[in-house]
Amino acid sequence: RRGKGRDGDLFRQGRERKTAGEETTMDELTRSFCQAAEAYGLSLTDKQREQFSRYGALLLAWNEKMNLTALTAPREVAVKHFIDAASVWRPDWFTGEVRRVVDVGTGAGFPGLPLKILHPELDMTLVDALQKRVRFLEEVIDALGLTGVTALHARAEEAARQKSCRERFDAAVARAVAPLPVLTEYALPFVKVGGFLAAQKGAKVQEEAAAAAKAIDLLGGAPPVTEAVSLPGLDDARAVLYVKKMRPTPALYPRKAGTPEKKPLEDA
Ligand code: SAM
Repeated sequence: RRGKGRDGDLFRQGRERKTAGEETTMDELTRSFCQAAEAYGLSLTDKQREQFSRYGALLLAWNEKMNLTALTAPREVAVKHFIDAASVWRPDWFTGEVRRVVDVGTGAGFPGLPLKILHPELDMTLVDALQKRVRFLEEVIDALGLTGVTALHARAEEAARQKSCRERFDAAVARAVAPLPVLTEYALPFVKVGGFLAAQKGAKVQEEAAAAAKAIDLLGGAPPVTEAVSLPGLDDARAVLYVKKMRPTPALYPRKAGTPEKKPLEDA
C-alpha cells in the first residue's frame, strides 16, 4: 500500500513511530467508542472495533490538513459521528431485503461508512461533490480492507441521472446535507420503488417534514415516518425521518445541479 495515498502514508509512518500523544488519542477514541456502543446496545466483533479505531485515527489525522469534521474530541467522534451514524439503521426498515444503499453527501463517510462496518453485507455507495473528501474515503476503504463499498465523486443531481444509479438503490441515507425538500430531490431519484430514504434530522424534524410534503409527493414518496433517536450521554433532540418510495420519480427530477437548492420544490 505504500506510495498509494500520500497522506495515508504519513499517517502510517506516524503510527509506526507511536508518539505518546497519538497513542493516547487513539486509545481514548477506541475506549469511548466501545463504551458508547455498549450503552447504545451494539455488540461488536474485534474486527469492527479495530475498523472503527482505524477510521477514527485516519479521520483525525487527515482533519489536520483538510476540513473533514468540526468534532475532534474522541468522545464526540465516538458518539456524535459513529453511534449517531449507527442510529439510522432500524430493523423494521433495513430488512434482509435491503442490500444496495447510497449515502448522499457523505462528507467524511457519515452515516454510510459506520453503517457498512456494522452491516458488512450492505453494498454501499458513498457520494460527495468534493473530490478531496472522496480521496479520504478511498484511503479509509483501503486501510480498513472494506469490500462492497464505492466512493463516487459527483453531485447528487448528476449521479441520480446516470443509468447505473437511477432508481437502483434499496435505500438512500443522508445526514446534514440540505433541508428536507432539497434533500428529497437529491436522494429519492436514486431509490427503487418500494425502497426508502432515511434522513437524519435534529429538533426541527416536524417542521421540515411539513415543508417537504409537496416535494416528497412530487418525487414519488409517501408521507414521512419519524423515529426519535437518543444517543448515550446526550439529551438533544434527534430523529430519523423515513420516506418510503411509492411511485417512480418523474424524469424531470432532479433538476439541473444547483436548482434544487436555489429553488426548492416547496416554493416551485
Ligand atoms: N453527511 C456528512 C456528515 O453528516 O458528517 C457530511 C455533511 S456536510 C455538512 C455536507 C456534505 O454534503 C459535504 O461533504 C458536501 O460536499 C456534500 N454535498 C452537498 N451538496 C451536495 C450535492 N448536491 N451532491 C453531492 N454532495 C453534496
